[in-house]
Amino acid sequence: MATLADSATRFAHTPHPAPTPAAVRDEVLANPGFGLRFTDHMVSIDWSEEAGWHNPAVLPYGPIALDPAASVLHYAQEIFEGLKAYRHPDGSMALFRPQANAARFNRSARRLAMPELPEELFIQAIREIVAADKDWFPTVEGGSLYLRPFMIATEAFLGVRAAKSYRFMVIASPAGNYFKSGAPAVSLWVSDYTRAAPGGTGAAKCGGNYAASLVPTAEAFARGHDQVLFLDAAERKWIEELGGMNVFFAFADGSLLTPALSGTILEGVTRDSLIALARDEGLTVREDKYSLDQWRADAASGQLVEAFACGTAAVVTPIGKVAGHDGEFTIGSGGPGQLTGKLKARLTAIQRGEAPDPHGWVMRIG
Ligand SMILES: *Cc1c(COP(=O)(O)O)cnc(C)c1O
Repeated sequence: MATLADSATRFAHTPHPAPTPAAVRDEVLANPGFGLRFTDHMVSIDWSEEAGWHNPAVLPYGPIALDPAASVLHYAQEIFEGLKAYRHPDGSMALFRPQANAARFNRSARRLAMPELPEELFIQAIREIVAADKDWFPTVEGGSLYLRPFMIATEAFLGVRAAKSYRFMVIASPAGNYFKSGAPAVSLWVSDYTRAAPGGTGAAKCGGNYAASLVPTAEAFARGHDQVLFLDAAERKWIEELGGMNVFFAFADGSLLTPALSGTILEGVTRDSLIALARDEGLTVREDKYSLDQWRADAASGQLVEAFACGTAAVVTPIGKVAGHDGEFTIGSGGPGQLTGKLKARLTAIQRGEAPDPHGWVMRIG
C-alpha cells in the first residue's frame, strides 16, 4: 500500500489494455455532446482512518466494486466537482482556476462529514488523468475535456454516522455544447419545489442536492421548458439559482445583479469569474436579493434588459423566458443579449488561451 507523504505523490499507472480505437475516438471527438462518453482512464485514491489518503492510481476506465452496504448507496455521502481542461491554440493544455474547485471540494467535504483532500493532490490527480488521456480533446468548436472529480463513502456499515473509509476518483468526458438544441436562449420554469433550505446543504456540491432537483427538472421539461428556477425555501420569494447554474440580471443602467451567497446557493467559479470580468469592464455588480415579482416588474418596465445562467458545463446561457403559475414573461427580445454575449466571449477567450489572463486564472498543465 502506497501511503502519501506531504511532497509530490507518485501515482501507480495501469494503462488501458485495450484503449478505444482511434477511429472510434475521432468520431466521438467530432460530435461529443455532453457527459455521454468517457476517456480510457480514471484516477482513484483511497482514504481510511489508519492510512489517510493512499493508493493513488491511474487505472483503465471501468466499473468499480462496492460493498452493497457502502454508506454512499444508502445515505448519499457523496460530493463532486466539475471543471474543464482546454487545448490552447499553441497546442498546450490548461485548466481554469482548479484551485477554486479544490477549495470548494473541501468545503463540500466538511459539510458532508468527509475527509479533506490536500489541494495539491486534487490538482495532481487532474493533471494525471489529463496527461493519460491527452488525445481526448474534442475537435469541435467550443469543445473541452470535462473533468469530474468525486468522493464516495465506501465503508460497509448501516448505522447512521460518517463513514470511516472513502474513495476519491476523477473521470473525464469530452464535451461539446451542454444544451442539445444549442438554443439561443433558454426558457425557465419557476418551481414550487425548493432546492436548499437555510442550514441545509445548498452551498455544498453534493449528489443529494441533484437527486432532489430531478422531479422539479422533469416537471420543467414536461411543461416545455429547458431548466428549472428555484426560489428560496423560507419565503418562496427570492431568486436563488437553477438546478446547476447561477443566475445574473443585467439592467438598462448597465449594472449587473446576482443573488448573494446566502448559504443556500452554490458558489460558482463561473459566477465569481464573471463578477470580476464585469468589474474589469467598469460595470457595477451587486450581490443582493432579487425577488421574482421584482424581476417580472423590471422586465415589463424595461429596467431589466438581459438575464443569463452560468456554470462550467454550459458556460453562459441567455435566459429568454420565465414561466410559473402566475404566467410568463419575456426577457428583453427573448434572445441573447449584448452584454451576455460580451461577458461570455471575454470569459471563454481567457479559458481558451485566446486572450491575456490578467487575473492569473489559467494553469498550464503541459
Ligand atoms: C456546480 C454548480 C454551479 C456552477 O458552478 P461552477 O463552478 O460555475 O461550475 C451552480 N449551481 C449548482 C447547484 C452547482 O452544482
